[in-house]
Amino acid sequence: MNQTADVIVVGAGVVGCSVAYYLASSGANVTLLEREAIGSGASTHATGSLSTLGAEFSPGASYELAQAGYNEFIDLVPRLESETGANLLYQRRASLRLALDEEETALIKGMMEWQERVTRVKWIDGDEVRRIEPRLSPSIRGAVYEDESAQLDSYRLNLALAQGAEHHGAEIALREVVGLLTHNNRVTGVRTTGGDIFADAVVVATGEWSSAFGRWLGFPIPVRPLKGERLMLRYDGPPLPILISSPMRGHMISRLDGLLSVGSTGGRDYDQATMFAARESDTRPTEAAKLELLQRAIDVFPALEDAELVQQLAGSRPLSPDRLPILGPVPGWDGIMLATGHTTKGIHLGPITGRIISNWILQGQPGVDIDMNTFLPDRFSGMKQGDFELAGQHVEE
Ligand SMILES: Cc1cc2nc3c(=O)[nH]c(=O)nc-3n(C[C@H](O)[C@H](O)[C@H](O)COP(=O)(O)OP(=O)(O)OC[C@H]3O[C@@H](n4cnc5c(N)ncnc54)[C@H](O)[C@@H]3O)c2cc1C
Repeated sequence: MNQTADVIVVGAGVVGCSVAYYLASSGANVTLLEREAIGSGASTHATGSLSTLGAEFSPGASYELAQAGYNEFIDLVPRLESETGANLLYQRRASLRLALDEEETALIKGMMEWQERVTRVKWIDGDEVRRIEPRLSPSIRGAVYEDESAQLDSYRLNLALAQGAEHHGAEIALREVVGLLTHNNRVTGVRTTGGDIFADAVVVATGEWSSAFGRWLGFPIPVRPLKGERLMLRYDGPPLPILISSPMRGHMISRLDGLLSVGSTGGRDYDQATMFAARESDTRPTEAAKLELLQRAIDVFPALEDAELVQQLAGSRPLSPDRLPILGPVPGWDGIMLATGHTTKGIHLGPITGRIISNWILQGQPGVDIDMNTFLPDRFSGMKQGDFELAGQHVEE
């Protein structure tokens, strides 16, 4: 393999493959390094929900990035599918965010106060919800209706981005990065299990494993694992005509392959006590999560009592202290960019991250009309280990 590149991207999840794809399709000579397998991290386990309604997004730059991230898929999906022959199972549909009790009603209506100002959403009552889908529970009180949202298969997206990057000339190699090569205050390449590789720029897209790079750079990159599980069910009857989620009960999405995705655990308001607790990646499916997810699904869609469990997935998300991605240069260093910490939204924000980081490296600026200060690594300057636990805000997926 090449011992030099314009840009080395480390980590072949959706984020790293997006960065490699946008760089390579802009003509850069890219090497993408992955220690295990393409899509072996969080990106394989994700629901692939693309919606700006979740509580992860807040007014300002966060919402603008979410909107830009959503729009990015509209051109990207057909382009990738034609370049690679992949079918990403991409569907664009309206969505409902359901309230089954007072707490969910308050959460949804609270967020609608600012969402109404920036996007097309409306509150509909329980009867209207059941006119859209009569099989939904009689206890649903109402929902926020969004006429624009989407979902795709995140693993297929991950593979297609890698294949698309190769199509544009990127080299992909299975090598673990075990250190950085530096000269004065510049990163000049990476040390891998297969030897050293030199580059003008290195991009860290290693998801929940990114903090190791922080130790090598002497700058905090606070990313920790946040476990999440979800189920794939098969049931008798037609697919749901609309994408469904609820603040406390998660999502329920009929995929284009006919399976119903139900999830996810972790990352919600009521998980606050445990959200920042994990130190180690944990991808073991548990009986407790299975039962919890099945019960939540039956609460929303009672006919699922008779559904067949096809698959249980467990993954670990790259949690950042404020649950916003960490994007851009590292203070005090040239030649290195971070693209990590996407928490519960790395699929939704992966391609726009790829575009931004590619622009930043090749043109010297992010090239989007969004205030990137919100996402810069320098917001963690001086952060200490214990600060991570104190950093949470309320959020759910
Ligand atoms: C159950 C669940 C449901 C989810 N649902 C959604 C959803 O609906 N929508 C959404 O937007 N997001 C969702 N997410 C979150 C999303 O999956 C993540 O935010 C996203 O996958 C992060 O992508 P990534 O590329 O940063 O990390 P990863 O996919 O984890 O990739 C990182 C890669 O880096 C590699 N790596 C690490 N260290 C090294 C090294 N030293 N050298 C070489 N390679 C290295 C790893 O092997 C891995 O392949 C969900 C997550 C889970 C678990």
